[in-house]
Amino acid sequence: MEWWVSMPKVELHAHLNGSIRDSTLLELTKALGEKDNRSVKEVFQLFDLIRILTTDHAIVTRITREVIEDFASENVVYLELRTTPKRNEAIGMTKGSYIEAVLEGLRSVTSVDVNFIPHHKEDSRTLFSPNNGSSRKRIYVRLLLSIDRRETTEAAMETVKLALERSSLESSESTSPEIHLLVTGN
Ligand SMILES: [Zn+2]
Repeated sequence: MEWWVSMPKVELHAHLNGSIRDSTLLELTKALGEKDNRSVKEVFQLFDLIRILTTDHAIVTRITREVIEDFASENVVYLELRTTPKRNEAIGMTKGSYIEAVLEGLRSVTSVDVNFIPHHKEDSRTLFSPNNGSSRKRIYVRLLLSIDRRETTEAAMETVKLALERSSLESSESTSPEIHLLVTGN
């Protein structure tokens, strides 16, 4: 193993959509091409591919799970994962259901231990002793929900509201991520 792979790392700027596993992207692209009877090349040319793929709840859950697994496998011990909640009425996706799909992905990771940022300072000392005596890898995840500055005020406020709701809902549970808000975009 290369020395840099085995080093514990922090990842402070990971976009969910920018971290999709190559093999998954190829598989989903092929499936999309077959469905629409188009070649992979045409699919790439015709669409903003990732945007299309991430308008499916099951796919959002899957890519979230895989992104966490992949970072953990590279010994990332602390991950700030950012994503912009999306709405797509045609397939019944709301910003709320999008966030749920991401959370479902976080919870469905089984190959590594996913922890959420401890509320007590003492606990944070365990951050860089990733294995803690166990052979399983452990990764701390913080979820950052982005607000795109190009969004309308209404759409932005909806994300704020959902993040606040989830934060108060989840903060008492140690098995849930801390959710933070982030303003990004043009
Ligand atoms: Zn960025």
